[in-house]
Amino acid sequence: MDKEIEYNKIGLKAGLEIHQQLDTKTKLFCKCPTTLRDKKDSTFSFNRYLRASKSEMGEVDEAAREEAKYSRTFRYKGYESTCLVENDEEPPRELNQEAIDISLEVALLLNMNPVNEIHTMRKIVIDGSNTCGFQRTALVATDGWLSTAEGPVRVDVLCLEEDAAQKIETEGDAVVYSLDRLGIPLVEIGTAPDIRTAEQARNVAEQLGMILRSTGKVKRGLGTIRQDINISIEAGARVEIKGVQNLRMIGKIVKYEIIRQSKLIELREELKKRGARVEDRIEDVSSIFEASSSRVIQKARGKVFGVCLRGFSGILGTEIQLGRRFGSELADFAAKYGVGLMHTDELPAYSISEREVEQLKRTFEATENDCVVIVAAERARAEIALDAVLRRAEDALREIPKETRRALPNGSSAYMRPLPGAARMYPETDVPPVEIDENRLKKIKSKLPETFEARKSRYKEKFGLNDELADKIARDMNFSLFERIMDSYDIPATLVVRTVTDTVAELMQEGIDVDPLEDYHFIEIFRRLSANAFGKEAVPDILKFLASKPEMSVDKAIEEIGLSMNMEEVEKFIGDIVSSKKDFIQEKGARAVGPLMGVVMKELRGKVDGKVINELLEKKVKEVLTAE
Ligand SMILES: [Zn+2]
Repeated sequence: MDKEIEYNKIGLKAGLEIHQQLDTKTKLFCKCPTTLRDKKDSTFSFNRYLRASKSEMGEVDEAAREEAKYSRTFRYKGYESTCLVENDEEPPRELNQEAIDISLEVALLLNMNPVNEIHTMRKIVIDGSNTCGFQRTALVATDGWLSTAEGPVRVDVLCLEEDAAQKIETEGDAVVYSLDRLGIPLVEIGTAPDIRTAEQARNVAEQLGMILRSTGKVKRGLGTIRQDINISIEAGARVEIKGVQNLRMIGKIVKYEIIRQSKLIELREELKKRGARVEDRIEDVSSIFEASSSRVIQKARGKVFGVCLRGFSGILGTEIQLGRRFGSELADFAAKYGVGLMHTDELPAYSISEREVEQLKRTFEATENDCVVIVAAERARAEIALDAVLRRAEDALREIPKETRRALPNGSSAYMRPLPGAARMYPETDVPPVEIDENRLKKIKSKLPETFEARKSRYKEKFGLNDELADKIARDMNFSLFERIMDSYDIPATLVVRTVTDTVAELMQEGIDVDPLEDYHFIEIFRRLSANAFGKEAVPDILKFLASKPEMSVDKAIEEIGLSMNMEEVEKFIGDIVSSKKDFIQEKGARAVGPLMGVVMKELRGKVDGKVINELLEKKVKEVLTAE
């Protein structure tokens, strides 16, 4: 799965959208606090029903309409820390001025142009995540940019928004939301689709995260930052992956989506070659499973329905992403209707017998080339689920569907809903516009945190880094770690930069989980390196080792890898080699050092600095030659 991707060939276009909660005293449109509550402390709840009228629904796009098919009743849990604004029983108050200041600060740090007047708009949402049926959003700034090693990435828009109510559970047919999160201010930052590699995507996400945190006015911790990624490859389709909570996952998600789309293209070609087709025939196959020992089928009271995908044999079982097969894509569609699916690529299994599978195939006159898909559910539900599966299978013959997907913890993703169209916006007449005057901007500008550019020139001057490396570390998440190491130990700045950026990236590319590595691991490694405990060549190996055993001390790790060797031993080792090669040295003279260096380094790489070895070797060779 982790093979190299040829970015120049696949034509990747990706953009990021980041939503970050602001750490303001009060919510965006009322005076309630912005703290999340223990859901058990809810003091009241009320129900609302989907009330989109026909004409309103006509203006709602396909994504919204599909959402509306699933849920009708919404239950909201309130607290003594929420008010009538969250309940939609009172109109919103004026825009929170503190939130405007923070969003302007972020905008300026992103080289953006603030608008003259902030207007609040309504964006229709019908999933129940807002009691009033729309989300309020206000454009704050446009047209900024970020610089990356691969070139600039435009930052198109920055909006100030209210966070949605938090979905906590479903009770029967009702979806239950918690009102504590509703109305917490968010900045939404959207980049242009200028990103061309997975590595660049990760870097842009990191830079955005650093800029937001540098204000000191954003919320921290799980769930306070959410990112969506737009991805397309030239031969594929545009897909939006939602709900990424970990910045470090961005690169992996981009990579896995490229793999998914490439695999789907391969599968399409294979299906075409086979003349595969989808039959719109849904069969009641319950009679085959009358005596079935499958729990799933028993739970569905023996009701089983199936379809046949002609020419799809083996396709559903093909892996298209880490831990996901083409069958998982189809299963996502059935899951929308609350049913799981099984198919003959994986059967017999799940207590379904070989005999049952044979009968199933016979019913559809399925050949070796075909795949039968079944679901266990009552007729109405089974039909709607299988119909969705058939439509997705049909798409597999034609194109990669444009869709919104949900990020999974391992970097893969699952189908969520069709790609929404551009949201229609309506003015929010209850909230007056806010004028942004020059004085306000001037005041914010005078207190901006250090920019990447300022940090970069500081590094060039203080640590003598060249332009490329200074830029790289100034924009890297590990910049403060770099500063701590440089301020404590006498180590070449270049080595520290390479280690905390390139080496870490390389380890990740090797598939090593670097998350367990903490700042103190790096600090300890450089402390020991500055005391010549090992050669700098060993740094990647030590990091790799500690990533798998983060609880181990650096000293112990050095010992375990077999790096500890005192200078006496080193001298003896080199001396032994030199005396065993005396003939060779006499023949080659001083030129013998080169080949001998290779022999010595093979043993001592990482244990001792290469420069030190070279000096020792030269000395010993000279001794042999002058002894003649
Ligand atoms: Zn309130």
